[in-house]
Amino acid sequence: MTTTLDRPAPIKPNAIPKVGLVSLGCPKALVDSERIVTRLRAEGYQISADYAGADLVLVNTCGFLDSARDESLDAIGEAIEANGKVIVTGCLGAEPDVIEKAHPKVLAVTGPHQYEQVMDAVHTHLTPPHNPHQDLVPESGLRLTPRHYAYLKISEGCNNRCSFCIIPKLRGDLVSRPIHHVLTEAEQLVRAGVKELLVISQDTSAYGLDVKYAPQAWKGEDYETRFLDLARGLSSLGVWTRLHYVYPYPHVDKVIPLMADGAITPYLDIPFQHASANVLKAMKRPAKQDRVLERIQQWRRDVPDLAIRSTFIVGFPGETEEDFEILLDFIREAKIDRAGCFKYENVVHADSRDLPGHVPEEVKEERWHRFMEAQAAVSADRAEAQIGTVQDVIVDGSTEEAGQYLARSRADAPEVDGLVYLTSEKPLQPGNIVSAEIVNADAYDLFGRVL
Ligand code: SF4
Repeated sequence: MTTTLDRPAPIKPNAIPKVGLVSLGCPKALVDSERIVTRLRAEGYQISADYAGADLVLVNTCGFLDSARDESLDAIGEAIEANGKVIVTGCLGAEPDVIEKAHPKVLAVTGPHQYEQVMDAVHTHLTPPHNPHQDLVPESGLRLTPRHYAYLKISEGCNNRCSFCIIPKLRGDLVSRPIHHVLTEAEQLVRAGVKELLVISQDTSAYGLDVKYAPQAWKGEDYETRFLDLARGLSSLGVWTRLHYVYPYPHVDKVIPLMADGAITPYLDIPFQHASANVLKAMKRPAKQDRVLERIQQWRRDVPDLAIRSTFIVGFPGETEEDFEILLDFIREAKIDRAGCFKYENVVHADSRDLPGHVPEEVKEERWHRFMEAQAAVSADRAEAQIGTVQDVIVDGSTEEAGQYLARSRADAPEVDGLVYLTSEKPLQPGNIVSAEIVNADAYDLFGRVL
């Protein structure tokens, strides 16, 4: 959860209207929050760092898992109690009846990426200032991430219908942003100091499908609105570019040469979710598992330092012990470098609720522990193999000890992957990319020294 708010106190109206923001959920929701903050600032509103200073509070909710829904409802309740004037947006906003039932005092509810509706609601309940300070907004927009990395959202929604997922119900079908807009935004971010771009969407490899891969010109060159051209355009910006939420469709193979050349960061975030054909079928996953292992092995031959991050669900309805063993074999053979594992949750409105063979909670728990153990072993092998190597790392910040810094290798995305604990004789700043020798490792993190 990201929040710009602290503790409550009495509210008095501000000369310049101030809006507080509580942003919950995934990076895609964070990008929505950034867009809203940018629009607010462009119209002259100020952003309040606490409830007391805010004339109104916006809560950007997550509605994916039951636990996230509860967290969102709690955050709305806290904001109402502390401030009283609350507008709700985001994924849970797609279910206004749920919110209004729990919190009848909310002023307005809008759904995910409904920026216009959010702004309309703000205008209705907090009069806009007379002199918008357009110049207060940098061309790269306002961001909630540190200055040196930024999420780049390339599309909204999803055409897939995975049975455990309600995102298409919340966010609708795939809507791709035109490629020249995405590349222009990326260029502006780089100009503003961003050293690492994190490409996000619900299904990055499906980018452009909805617009039939429409061609566009950018800086005198022709690009199609598609995954490979996007990677090609981004690689021209000379910063680290990480691809998230990529499905193993065959055309993903084409981006591997860009990684081999160092033009795109050798990192693929592929949410496989499972490896057993039976479970994948029940999940209605988009890409087939056929030849996936073979293809990963070929990718690794072409790009030896490729890091693969993934997420998996254990205890999906109908998952047998044999299916689960297939999954464990897969993570070992594919050497999945980084993995998140979730115990299946019966999400409200998800089709998988009606599937037969729900797995008892204690079996889910036991499989989750076995998964994490197997994954830790794969991860530790990988980490150990890094000892003695020299690699570029990006500095995120410093620790309290002099000469000690927190950094990440190309194999580590911010917030979800490991860290490189770095020692350096010369002072470093966030965003510096330096060459470091890896001197030690544990299961998830590396320890290095700047050369
Ligand atoms: S690909 Fe599947 S899991 Fe991902 S957003 Fe689309 S429907 Fe949900």
